[in-house]
Amino acid sequence: MNGTVYLVGAGPGDPGLLTVRAAELVARADVLVYDALANPRILERAARAERIYVGKRGGEHSRTQDDINRLLVDLARTHRCVVRLKGGDPFVFGRGGEEAQALVEAGVPFEVVPGVTAGIAAPAYAGIPVTQRGMAASVAFVTGHEDPTKPDTDVDWAHLARGVGTVVFYMGVGKMAENFRRLVEAGRAPQTPAAAVEWGTYPRQRTVTGTLETLPERVRQAGIGAPSLIVVGQVVSLRGELAWWDRRPLSGRRIVVTRARAQASDLAAALEELGAEVLQFPTIRIADPPDPDALRRAAAEAASYDWIVFTSVNGVERFWGMLDGLGRDARSLGGARVCAIGPATAAELAARGIRADVVPDEFVAEAAVQALAAADDLAGKRILLPRAEVARAVLPESLRARGAQVTEVAAYRTVQDGEGADAIRRRIAAGDVDVVTFTASSTVRSFAELVGTELGGARAASIGPITSATLRELGMPVDVEAAEYTIPGLVAAVRAFFAAAGREA
Ligand code: SAH
Repeated sequence: MNGTVYLVGAGPGDPGLLTVRAAELVARADVLVYDALANPRILERAARAERIYVGKRGGEHSRTQDDINRLLVDLARTHRCVVRLKGGDPFVFGRGGEEAQALVEAGVPFEVVPGVTAGIAAPAYAGIPVTQRGMAASVAFVTGHEDPTKPDTDVDWAHLARGVGTVVFYMGVGKMAENFRRLVEAGRAPQTPAAAVEWGTYPRQRTVTGTLETLPERVRQAGIGAPSLIVVGQVVSLRGELAWWDRRPLSGRRIVVTRARAQASDLAAALEELGAEVLQFPTIRIADPPDPDALRRAAAEAASYDWIVFTSVNGVERFWGMLDGLGRDARSLGGARVCAIGPATAAELAARGIRADVVPDEFVAEAAVQALAAADDLAGKRILLPRAEVARAVLPESLRARGAQVTEVAAYRTVQDGEGADAIRRRIAAGDVDVVTFTASSTVRSFAELVGTELGGARAASIGPITSATLRELGMPVDVEAAEYTIPGLVAAVRAFFAAAGREA
């Protein structure tokens, strides 16, 4: 087989900065060769690829550059689409040029996909434009790694000091003080503004500013390490005005999401959009119900009910999974009317061609009963409740109290997940977590069992009164409660909490 090797830039970290071309290639790669700076969130997009790690571990090169070159040539003989993924841009301090040369030599076809280089993106996220009219008319990308004392240095320090507007050092934290001394000796003013941007474009991005004189000590005090970019030049002073990234409503907040992994993405994305660093800690997982036959029978007889009440997206998904398995579709509901407990559940139904007849104003069982009673005389009515195996009794009991014949059927089970519980406990103990979000009582109970009820300085944010009651029952605080009992409502409440508390909360 004759494959093609794609030398692909993955951008600086933020998956949103992946190019469209890079995303396409990662998705269709047969094999993906990557190293330490590849964001795992980007690797997840490799749907079908075999993955080969060739990065540094603990400072040791696990493979030499020659090994990697040979590997790429070999892989092109056995795979059609070989993606060599590199942080930033492959041709900016990425050794992409050397790999391309090796491919030419071996006669292997290749293509290059440029990426957003950290040297531009990390300063941009820190509010530092690398050029600015009247301030910097040129910018130099420099390796900060080179031994500046070696006589045959490749870096022209005199030129950098006097002839270049902005100097951007890659791999420059370790030798920053020496490099800065070089610049000053060669004529750059010691008062020149300078900044270090650590983990640029990642949620954990940190920026420290100073001057050629003061920055090394400030960086040392702040414990800034690799990967960091160092920017030197007047443009750094613009950060005071332009630091947009640091000023988003949840910038610098670390927020734990305890939802099941399959459902966490909407909450996580909304929090990240506001600047939070999200720590995924799925406390629960959605599993098959204990008696799938009962659900199958209920799905088969759906049309015999007057009402079907869905209390979660999971319920809808599982119920339709069953219909699907029976070779049926939405028409099987016949004349049964449908109630959705909230907008997300209603949207899930709408996606399957069902417009909910009733959606209560408040998204709890009590309000659903009121809304149903307002829509219909429930006496003698057959009502199907496909929901979680363990769920509150209030809904079926109140419906029965109004004379309805209620059939409860378990559509799914929530089982404990909790991978990474130790890590979350440690981070909470270290004061490293600002908020833990709870989107259902089941997540509260699982969290308490897996991690404990001690939140230290972290705040508990609850989606609504039922979840809050479970928190209180277990002796945990309720610092934030959503006014609207939905995911967007929870996000809005967390945002409002920090806005009210001010930046020091
Ligand atoms: N090809 C890459 C650079 C690889 S060299 C690119 O174009 O961006 C590795 C150096 O890049 C690191 O030592 C650091 O200086 C810089 N770097 C890469 N990603 C970074 C990030 N997210 N934040 C800050 N610096 C980063």
